[in-house]
Amino acid sequence: MTTIAFIGLGNMGGPMAANLVKAGHRVRGFDLVPASLEQAKADGIEIAASALDAVEGAEAIVTMLPAGKHVRAVWAEIVPAAKAGALIVDCSTIDVESARAVHEIAAARGLKSLDAPVSGGTVGAKGATLTLMVGGTEEAFAAGEPILAKMGRRVVHCGGAGAGQAAKICNNMILGISMIGISEAFVLGEKLGLSHQALFDVASTSSGSCWSLVTHCPVPGPVPTSAANHGYKPGFATELMLKDLLLSQEAAKSAGAATPLGAKAAALYTRFREEGHGAEDYSAIVTYLREQTPE
Ligand code: NAD
Repeated sequence: MTTIAFIGLGNMGGPMAANLVKAGHRVRGFDLVPASLEQAKADGIEIAASALDAVEGAEAIVTMLPAGKHVRAVWAEIVPAAKAGALIVDCSTIDVESARAVHEIAAARGLKSLDAPVSGGTVGAKGATLTLMVGGTEEAFAAGEPILAKMGRRVVHCGGAGAGQAAKICNNMILGISMIGISEAFVLGEKLGLSHQALFDVASTSSGSCWSLVTHCPVPGPVPTSAANHGYKPGFATELMLKDLLLSQEAAKSAGAATPLGAKAAALYTRFREEGHGAEDYSAIVTYLREQTPE
């Protein structure tokens, strides 16, 4: 079985690395936070003294870090020390430009590399039910797919370097826009005297149906597992939704794509976060919309 180095053992990386151990891999992990290391150790991950120490001799390397600047710094440090012919995969959600830049760092050393951001949240990370969106060469994908399949249910090869990140931010732009649309419909329905259940029953079986409604329904009642029934405890935090919307806007600007609703969604979530709701589930945007006075 492949020996895997795993850098970044946080809310997502910790359980993803644990699933690689369960699948029979030897996993050497590193994180800056002692509590994450303790949990990882309990999950059977060998704790390394540093990122450099973790990658020594590993045939595959996975990083799961907060943002592009962390991935750039860690790859610049570890790529020169990686075993010849190793595969290196970044599963973080980062900007497309950084993703392409770190592929170049790996290519300069002759390493196979993939960007493979994930969807499915911490529940998907724990249950190995994530969707992984992958960018990189056919050769790198062939090498990485068997490893990625142990952390998720679906592994989709989206294209060359950066294509995984591109798919991720396009998908999450849809999610942010659709959650605002669904929330506006509930707020309008309330003003028109329509019950939440009636609107749900109609929209979930009609042309208005989407993931934001049927899985993350922003009002309590119709979907018992949605955050609205649990004080808007995430789930998927507003902070992370906003991060992805801002990444989509950055990409739209540099690629020259018109995304007016994406821009509006980013602005609304920015205001919501500024009012102190960053740690609430992104579906709590319905409470913000309810408080707005029409212009
Ligand atoms: P997290 O903050 O829980 O974990 C990130 C970890 O990286 C932390 O433990 C931190 O200590 C570690 N780290 C930072 N710099 C490091 C370094 N130089 N060396 C070693 N470790 C370092 O974040 P998370 O929720 O696990 O998210 C990770 C990535 O996955 C992010 O890019 C996020 O956008 C993305 N993501 C998160 C979710 C989610 O629901 N949490 C869902 C999909 C994608």
